[in-house]
Amino acid sequence: MRIELPLCLFNRHQPVRDQVHWDGWSYRSTCRFCGKLVERESKGLWRKAEPRLPPDTPFDHSVVSDPPTDRSSD
Ligand SMILES: [Zn+2]
Repeated sequence: MRIELPLCLFNRHQPVRDQVHWDGWSYRSTCRFCGKLVERESKGLWRKAEPRLPPDTPFDHSVVSDPPTDRSSD
């Protein structure tokens, strides 16, 4: 019985070919050995990738100070 020795421990992954896609920055896929999100660094070299957040939160609204109050009649 042959044992596959994945190189995941050395941050060299093998993508699932059917899941390779271009996300606007790089090619991404899922490692077929460890199941992690991987990113193509160069031809034939896939590294672990961090999930990108969708660009729908450009500002952190929680740090906005109190809204200005119109107290001209004070
Ligand atoms: Zn892997």
